[in-house]
Amino acid sequence: MGTDRFLTHRGPCACGAGQYIVYTCTPDHPYPTSSKWWEYDITCPACNNVYQLEMRSSQVVQIRKSDIAHKKQLWEQCRAAESDLMQRARPYLDKLEAVLEASQSVAERYRLLRSFLGLAHLPTESTFRRHLREAGTMRKWIDRNIRLGSLHKVLKFAGQQDDQLLEDIQKAEHLTHEALEPPPGELVPPGSE
Ligand SMILES: [Zn+2]
Repeated sequence: MGTDRFLTHRGPCACGAGQYIVYTCTPDHPYPTSSKWWEYDITCPACNNVYQLEMRSSQVVQIRKSDIAHKKQLWEQCRAAESDLMQRARPYLDKLEAVLEASQSVAERYRLLRSFLGLAHLPTESTFRRHLREAGTMRKWIDRNIRLGSLHKVLKFAGQQDDQLLEDIQKAEHLTHEALEPPPGELVPPGSE
């Protein structure tokens, strides 16, 4: 199976010395598909060093490679902060585990989790049962499912008074949002397609 390429954009690069060329690609097979991607070529070495191209809302934008590298670095920072915070929150996670272990049934555990986590952080009850079975122990379920985004709720549930920890969690959450936001893109100079 090959690929069909259609020229989507051909225009000058940012400095004008070369060209930005973008193709829309679809798999070359006989049945209809919604699968579609873009490939691009920057013929100017100087611009190719600085930018990569992306399609956003059907428009070609150039994104600085340094911005992408910065986001990646930020993301790694966030993951390191998360693992540090999970360790610092261990006593509260242990308390949660003990309360859940003391529950009489899986349904009761689910209700308890739902009462303070809220539905957005929990799957349906039947999925929860399956995940719990797969995890094997309550502790493993907690480690797999309680992440940075719901950690502050666990702390509240466990009645913690650790303001520094809470503040650090909020900082890390904020940083994560920043890391997840796409890097800024600039519209490229208009092309002929
Ligand atoms: Zn250029």
